[in-house]
Amino acid sequence: MTADAVRAFVARVAPFDDLGAPVVSTVVVDGERFALTARTARALAEALHRYTDPEDNGRCAGCGGVLDRHLRCRSCGRIDGIFGATIADRLAAED
Ligand SMILES: [Zn+2]
Repeated sequence: MTADAVRAFVARVAPFDDLGAPVVSTVVVDGERFALTARTARALAEALHRYTDPEDNGRCAGCGGVLDRHLRCRSCGRIDGIFGATIADRLAAED
């Protein structure tokens, strides 16, 4: 997290805050202190909760492991998703 990103985020939320809203929390990023009102603190928390890593391709239906960009489970090697289900169906039909 860079101070520039936090500064821009606070500036985006600030116009919707009540005038003179009290500071309820502070965050320090890159040595810069940001005073957060209840609205900005709530908005920052919500933004953090909504974040999804660009490499997050979901979880394996078999073991719950992390899927790579090819939807292959890093833990058990299973290919997940519709493609994986299709392969599993094909293999089952060959038995
Ligand atoms: Zn797995």
